[in-house]
Amino acid sequence: MLKTAFFWNERCFWHGGGHYASIAPVGGMVQPLAAGGSPENPETKRRLKSLLDVSGLAKELEMLDAETASYEDLNRIHPASYLEEFKGMSDANGGELGLRTPFLKGGYEISALSAGLVKAALLDVLDGKYKNAYALSRPPGHHCLPDYPNGFCLLANIPIAIEAAIAAKKVQRVAVVDWDVHHGNGTEAIYLERDDVLTISLHQENNYPPDSGAIETIGEGDGRGHNMNIPLPPGAGHDAYIYAFDTLVLPALENFKPDVIVVACGFDASLIDPLSRMLASSYTFREMTIKIMQAADDLCDGKLVMAHEGGYSEVHVPFCGHAVLETMSGSKICLDDPIEPRAKYSQPNARFSGYYRDLIDEYLEHFKSVNTIS
Ligand SMILES: [Zn+2]
Repeated sequence: MLKTAFFWNERCFWHGGGHYASIAPVGGMVQPLAAGGSPENPETKRRLKSLLDVSGLAKELEMLDAETASYEDLNRIHPASYLEEFKGMSDANGGELGLRTPFLKGGYEISALSAGLVKAALLDVLDGKYKNAYALSRPPGHHCLPDYPNGFCLLANIPIAIEAAIAAKKVQRVAVVDWDVHHGNGTEAIYLERDDVLTISLHQENNYPPDSGAIETIGEGDGRGHNMNIPLPPGAGHDAYIYAFDTLVLPALENFKPDVIVVACGFDASLIDPLSRMLASSYTFREMTIKIMQAADDLCDGKLVMAHEGGYSEVHVPFCGHAVLETMSGSKICLDDPIEPRAKYSQPNARFSGYYRDLIDEYLEHFKSVNTIS
């Protein structure tokens, strides 16, 4: 039986830099933190890998490394001017090229490695080597525009992987489901006018980037109807996420009929994430994984790739990621999430659940009117 592949590389944990206290640049009246700076630090990712080792799940997965994405791979998305500037600054002493995108010396190579993990995961799944695959990519990618890095993202990992697979004639139609709590604005911008890549982003309304991710952005030209934004107001919990999945995400996938599904897998919708105000739990991520696997089975022979994006709770990200990987691999290991009891009692009451359902029902009418859902 085919295994679930898990792509990672210790060097991705060595990416870092910048002087932030949470999202506030240090300086003036903002005192530097004692430990670390940016919320995008290695620990959430490293602790997920550590938990897989300690629980024994790592032994059931195919643990793999990958080649760095090539210049040709990067250049399909990013213009030479941007890559040269990034490489030049990285070869010197590092720095920052966009908004909240700090990197150290050698950050260019680590970012290309992060994209390489996603590329290898996608190509291997398309080649039928593994049942499905997870790439523990860092730095993340979904906010990155072709020539402007943004929100900790320096290269557009998922589009780089998709374009490499299309260039190798391994795939034609790809669906990207982005459940990171922030809007997948980079992926959206890159595929806005394309009808061969469906982009879906489920996010906290107006969190990051601000004024981005409205339902009215449906794609342009040939891409019309192929971009789906599902902004949920702060406070949405398990029920709202699952209802949005059943009502909007799954019907859109069914309508589009992809050859493979790629998930931009952020865990920052967690109820204890410092950068969002949502109430998802590991149970939410487990259930969304069950549903997306079922969709992949029905539509594309089970072909499913997850690329790690955000998630800033050092405590909770490992348990959310573990739940996803237990599900992807069909493991009998089932860890207790220590945050789960709190999650259960932190969900919106019936009155507020009704509010989210009504909103999602309104969104359904909108997406039917633009033919994203038939
Ligand atoms: Zn995020």
